[in-house]
Amino acid sequence: MALLDVSDIHVRYGDMVALRGLSLKVEEGEVVCIIGPNGAGKSTTLAAIAGGVRPYRGEIRYDGQPILGTPPDKIATMGVSLVPEGRHIFGSLTVAENLIIGAYMRKDKAEVARDRERILALLPRLAERIDFPAGRLSGGEQQMLAVARAVMTRPKLLLVDEPSLGLAPKIVDQIYEILLELRKTEGLTLVINEQSSNRVLKFADRVNVLRQGEIRLAGTAAELADGAAIRQAYFGFE
Ligand code: ATP
Repeated sequence: MALLDVSDIHVRYGDMVALRGLSLKVEEGEVVCIIGPNGAGKSTTLAAIAGGVRPYRGEIRYDGQPILGTPPDKIATMGVSLVPEGRHIFGSLTVAENLIIGAYMRKDKAEVARDRERILALLPRLAERIDFPAGRLSGGEQQMLAVARAVMTRPKLLLVDEPSLGLAPKIVDQIYEILLELRKTEGLTLVINEQSSNRVLKFADRVNVLRQGEIRLAGTAAELADGAAIRQAYFGFE
């Protein structure tokens, strides 16, 4: 059974159809990437899974249970966490305070403290800046903080919306290394949105190309490695 099974979802914003019959399966432990141009529907897909927007048709199953229509906070407690595009960290709060916010729904405070130390051990730059206001961190550090904060909810499924946005290639590589390390140490399954396939083919197990609200191409990173089919699906050349 797939950990996540999105089946034929349709989403509309007013008259604008954002997703038209999107299906996606994610097995436990996989890194699955969704790539597509601006406005393709990538953020909407993650929002639908996390419960932030409600598809008017289709079904979403997480861990075998239907979750469509379940409120976002309930979906979060089931083990789904979203790292939104633009990070949305609290700039005037410290790194430590941002991490606490990630864990605010958890009652197991001793475990929270242990998780915090384990995650910070993977992120020495954040550990060094633990009492800095988050707004003073670099873009890459803020992205790492956004990921760390999401991991503090103890998710099984982490949804990451465009982690490379506005960051230098070297920093993007570091972010991906950390995501892969977290997959190992925290047992995460990852769905990652990106605009370009550059990094994705190196780090993902499977890749989906989304354009105009539909998956145009899906395959393993190995199958799509030469990039030609991706370019065709992405730009819509027939
Ligand atoms: P980006 O890379 O710009 O984030 P995306 O692939 O994530 O793009 P979405 O943000 O999911 O795409 O948007 C899909 C479509 O839905 C776009 O045409 C967008 O303008 C529209 N859209 C998104 N959110 C809303 C909203 N709240 N109200 C109206 N239209 C919206």
